[in-house]
Formats: sequence, C-alpha cells, structure tokens
Amino acid sequence: MVQDPRALAATPAPPAHILVVDDQLESRELLHAHLTNAGYEVFTAQDGFEALAAVAAQPPDLILLDVMMPGLDGYEVCRRLKSDEETAFIPVVMLTALSDFENRLRGIELGADDFLGKPFNRLELLTRVRSLLRVKGLHDQVAAHNRLLEDRVAERTAALEHALADLREMDRLKSEFLSNISHELRTPLTPIKGYLPALLREEFGSLTTDQRRILGDMARSVERLHRLIEDLLAFMQLESGQAGLHLGAVELEKILEAALARAAATAREKGLTLTVEAPPPLPPVWADAAALGRALGHLVENAVKFTPAGGQVTVTARLLDGEGRGAETQGSGGAEGLSPLPPGPPAPQQFVEITVRDTGVGIPAGAIPRILDRFYQVDSSTTRRHGGTGLGLALVKHILDAHGAPLAVESVEGRGTTFTVRLPVAA
Ligand code: ATP
Ligand code: MG
Repeated sequence: MVQDPRALAATPAPPAHILVVDDQLESRELLHAHLTNAGYEVFTAQDGFEALAAVAAQPPDLILLDVMMPGLDGYEVCRRLKSDEETAFIPVVMLTALSDFENRLRGIELGADDFLGKPFNRLELLTRVRSLLRVKGLHDQVAAHNRLLEDRVAERTAALEHALADLREMDRLKSEFLSNISHELRTPLTPIKGYLPALLREEFGSLTTDQRRILGDMARSVERLHRLIEDLLAFMQLESGQAGLHLGAVELEKILEAALARAAATAREKGLTLTVEAPPPLPPVWADAAALGRALGHLVENAVKFTPAGGQVTVTARLLDGEGRGAETQGSGGAEGLSPLPPGPPAPQQFVEITVRDTGVGIPAGAIPRILDRFYQVDSSTTRRHGGTGLGLALVKHILDAHGAPLAVESVEGRGTTFTVRLPVAA
C-alpha cells in the first residue's frame, strides 16, 4: 500500500542521529556532550573502519569526521562513503586542525559537505550541524516522494498489465464466439437454401400457383436473411481485425456484374434503369474479389433502394492516370478508346475509378458526415420503408479502408447521389 507523502511530512521527526568519528577520546567526548545537550542522538567511532561499520549497521543523518586518524584516515572514509550510492547523500563535516586551503580542497574533491576547524566553537558546530541536517531532511523528503511515485507507477503498470491480460482473454473469447456463431447461423440456412429452388423446380411434385408464389416469397426472404447474416459476420470480423484480405489481381467486369445482380430484381420491380458503363479493356485491380464484390454490391443496393420508381442507377468504371485524370482525356484516343500512358520512368500508379450514381432521394448535407457510421440511417420515411440495419456503408468503409481505397460521396437532396471508389491497378 502506498503511503501518502503528507502523512510522511506530518509524522513528528525522531531526533537526528549523528555519528562522531575521532581517534582522540577528548575530542569525541566534547562533541558527544555538545550534540547530546542539543537533543541529538550521538554515536561514536574511534577510527575509519569502525566508522564504516557503524554506517553500514545504521546509516546516520550526519557524520562528523576527523581527518587525521591512524589506519583509514578521514579522507579515505569520506571517499568510500561518497562513492557508494547508499551512503553518498549522508552529509559529512570534516574536522580538521589543519585549516589550510589545500586540505579543504582535497576534502571538497572527495565530496565533503562542510568543514569545522579544531578546536571548535560550540555555536559554530551546532549551526553547521543544524543547517546540514535541514538539507538532509529535504533530501529525505524528495527521496520519499520519489519512492512513492515509483510505487504508484508500479501499481499502475500492474493494473494496466492486468487490464491487458483481460482484454486478450476477451479477444480470445470473441474470436471463439465469432467462429461458433458463424457456424450456428449458417448451418440451419443450408437445407432451406438448398431445398427451396428444388421445390420451385417442382422436383418434389407439381405446385399450385399459390404454392409457387409463397415459395418464391420464402426464397427471397431466405436470400435476404442469408445476406444479412453474411454482412453481419463480415462486419464483425472486420471490426475485430480478424478478416484477412486475399488480395490479388481481380477482373472488375465480373465483380461489377455480380454487384448488379444483387439488386437487379428489385430494380426491375421498381422499374429502374440499371446500367453499367465500363468501356473495355479495363485492367485488373488489386483487391480481394469477394470483399470488393460485397462493398460494390452494397453501394448498388443502396442506389436502387433509395431511388424511386422510374429513376436511374448507373455504375461506371474507368482508368485514371497517376494524377487522377481520366486516361481517355490524354492525347489522341487509340483504336480501343484508351490512349497509352506517357512513356518514361517512373510510371505513376494507375487507378480505376468506380462510381455508383443514382437519381434518387439524395442525402441531406448535414447527414453526409454520418452515413458511414454503423447503424446510422437518415431518419426519413424512405429509410423506414426500406428497412435495413444501417450497417451497409459501415461495412463498405471497412472493406475499402482495408484496401487503402478512398471512398467519396456527393449528393443533392431530391436529385441523387454518387459514390466514388478508387482502386489501384494490379501491377
Ligand atoms: P443496410 O445497408 O444495413 O440494409 P441501410 O441501407 O439503411 O441498411 P447503409 O447502407 O449503411 O444502411 O446506409 C446508411 C444510410 O445512408 C441509409 O439508411 C440512407 O439513409 C443513406 N444512404 C445510403 N446510400 C444512399 C443513397 N444512394 N441515396 C440516399 N441515401 C443513401
Ligand atoms: Mg445499405
């Protein structure tokens, strides 16, 4: 448990503990008497080795250290104390009869904090001791604060490590859940999807008109449910970063065809014109065919859904050069309608731009920034009439982001909407 630093400061300080080191008994006793009278707790040592042992046994708050001693002299004791990080911060006052400049200089070099000339003046002794003890007290407070901070950092680090472990476990459970739920949701649909067309083909007996109509409705509903499940699973996988893309060179024509097929029946029912303008030859793009098909399918589906009867939905694809110009706008057109790109290094990256344009209800300007948010639907009767979960565009955005492909939208309320996707041409 970490202690509050204010509590540390408020605790009454015990008497300071001072170590007196001197080989002369007289001098030791005098210092002992002065300091004890002043309220300090005093210990004595009569040579350097004894002094070091005393410090190791119980580090004092201050050391009064005689310079001239047999064996280990005061300089050596001071040097050893100051070069050990455990004892370096204990203030050392050197006691010296030699008041000459050179000896003090040597003491300073070895890290002594102050000097006191022998014979000492009581008042001077107590003043120096008090002032050095104050400095030592401040040092101890800083050290205590540092320890406290280190403890707090350690506590926080432990808490974060704990949270990280929890997150990893949750992530593992989520993956497990995802793969279970995928299986559980897909499996029951398999026989329904398999038998319905066979029933409709009258493989199990002839159907009345009503039965055919009902089975047709069921097939469409199952198809819708299947798509919804696949979208949900794809979305969950993309959100959890578990959907690895299988990138490769992809022929756009087939993907566009499949994307249109997804909405073709609805377009027909609504009397919409659904057209593709993709002048061949289009180069293959670098993409995941299934994911890209799903994304474009959603854009086309939205265009069909939000365009009233009699309207138009147009899907276009064209080759752009590195600067984003239409390749057909450069130079003279070749026999195929596409001019060769300018020769010479380095060849700028080429892109194919795909647009899905409709003459539908449009999106209010204020809603445009939000339409890519998951579950967001413009709150209008049109949206309610058509249902949906509001996941479509969030999924599109995820898929295109994973491709590093930008998505743009332009829309005018009551006039129509255009979504634009740009994909790199496969090298
Ligand atoms: P879901 O795609 O899950 O079936 P949804 O189509 O409502 O439901 P999104 O595809 O995410 O959801 O689209 C979000 C909202 O953006 C739509 O509800 C609609 O309000 C608006 N929107 C998207 N595309 C168009 C469009 N082409 N024209 C007009 N509004 C659009
Ligand atoms: Mg949608």
